[in-house]
Amino acid sequence: MQSLLELMGQAHEQLSQAASLAALDQVRVHYLGKSGLLTGQLKQLGKLSPDERKAAGQEINNAKQVLIEALEARRESLQAEALNARLQSEAVDVTLPGRGMSQGGLHPITLTIQRMSEIFGQLGFEMAEGPEIEDDFHNFTALNIPETHPARAMHDTFYLENGLLLRTHTSPVQVRYLMNHKPPVRVIAAGRVYRCDSDMTHSPMFHQMEGLMVDTDITFADLKGILKTFFREFFEVDDLETRFRASFFPFTEPSAETDITCVHCQGKGCRVCKNTGWLEVMGCGMVHPNVLKNVGVDSEAYTGFAFGMGVERLAMLRYQINDLRVMFDNDVRFLTQFH
Ligand SMILES: [Zn+2]
Repeated sequence: MQSLLELMGQAHEQLSQAASLAALDQVRVHYLGKSGLLTGQLKQLGKLSPDERKAAGQEINNAKQVLIEALEARRESLQAEALNARLQSEAVDVTLPGRGMSQGGLHPITLTIQRMSEIFGQLGFEMAEGPEIEDDFHNFTALNIPETHPARAMHDTFYLENGLLLRTHTSPVQVRYLMNHKPPVRVIAAGRVYRCDSDMTHSPMFHQMEGLMVDTDITFADLKGILKTFFREFFEVDDLETRFRASFFPFTEPSAETDITCVHCQGKGCRVCKNTGWLEVMGCGMVHPNVLKNVGVDSEAYTGFAFGMGVERLAMLRYQINDLRVMFDNDVRFLTQFH
C-alpha cells in the first residue's frame, strides 16, 4: 500500500509537469503500459493471500482509474493550450494595412520610344502610325526602291502568301502620311519592322523610329540642327557632336550616315566605338524628289528631310546593354532593372 501511494504521488507530479501531448503519453506508458509500474503492481498480486489480494486489487484498480482520469484531464487541458497558442499565432490583424502590390515596369524599348517621342514632340514633331503588314507600293515602289534593289530580295523581306509583306522599315508611314496630309509636315513614326535576319546584333523583329519634315524651305542644315539637338537631349550630353558621312539610300538624295560622339568614352576611343570615338546611329537625307512625286507633293515647291534609326540601338547605348537578344527574352531579372 505504501509503495502504491508513493507511485501515485510520483505519477501525479510527472503528469503535472508533462508540457506536451507526447510527454503526457510517455507518462501513460510509464505507469499504465504493458510493462508499466502500475501494471507491475497488479502482476505481483499473485504473491498475496486471497484476502489481501482482493483488497489490494481493489486499491490498485482504483488508483489506476484515478490515474486514467487525471491523464485525460491533463490531455484536454494540453490540447486546449495548444489550440489557444495556435489561434494566437495565426490571428489575422484586420487593422493592418494591406500588403504592397509590386508594380510592373515598362519595357526598355517602350521607355526609349517614349523618350524619343517626347524630345521630338518638343521640337514640334507629331506622331504618325501605319500598318505593320504593307504592300509593295508603300514599302518599296513609292520610296523609289527599284525592282532590282537588294532590299526586295527574299532573304531580307518576309512575304505573305497574299502578296503583301511585313514592313521592312517605318518609311511606308511617311508615304501614307504624305498622301493624306499637305505640307508643311513634321512627323515621327515608331514601331515594329521585320527582316529575315537573326544573330547577336540582329533580330527578325525590331523597332525603328522614322522622322520626316517637309516644307517650302527645308535644307540639310535643318536636318543637322534637329538631329544634334535630339541626340544631345537623348543622351543628356551637352557637348555631344554629330558627324555626317555621305551614303546612299534610294529614298533620299543626298543621303548620309549619322555618327555621334561615343557616349561610352566621350570620344576618347574604346571597345564600343572600336577606338574611333564615334558611333553610327542612323541614316538620313533629303527626301528624294521621286518620292515626293510618287506621293503627289510638288517637288519643285517643297523639300524635306527624313531619317530613320533603330530604337534597340539607342536603348542599348543608353542603358549600356551589349546583347540585343536580352531585349526579347522577357527575363524578369533584366526587365525589373527598368522599373
Ligand atoms: Zn568609345
